[in-house]
Amino acid sequence: MEDCLFCKIIKKEIPAQIVYENENMVAFEDINPQAPIHVLLIPREHFSSLNDIPEEKKHILAELLLAARQIAKEKGISKRGYRIVLNTEKDSGQAVFHIHFHLLGGRQMAWPPG
Ligand code: AMP
Ligand code: ZN
Repeated sequence: MEDCLFCKIIKKEIPAQIVYENENMVAFEDINPQAPIHVLLIPREHFSSLNDIPEEKKHILAELLLAARQIAKEKGISKRGYRIVLNTEKDSGQAVFHIHFHLLGGRQMAWPPG
């Protein structure tokens, strides 16, 4: 996608602090962290939101989640806990329309979310 911010990060046209990447996905530090640890995980293939992931691509969701789990482990927050967020469309507050999981941790989270 030409105008997609996260596609530009994937293509390295915009800099990001990349934490992990492989042939299917990229994980990088959120530019405006909401917790001591705030990493975004995105598929290389562009999908606007969860609503646009086709059934035959469902494996990417599992891969992103397990990568988030691994990054949480490497950052030392597995045991104390962390939150994974997937904002979807307008009411959720989704601002960047390239599907991304947020991995948040390093502080006590509140519930319910805002
Ligand atoms: P969402 O509201 O779920 O769409 O989240 C979008 C996230 O992208 C926000 O947490 C932003 O801080 C983050 N973000 C926006 N631009 C960048 C960027 N250039 N590099 C890293 N994170 C970004
Ligand atoms: Zn994109």
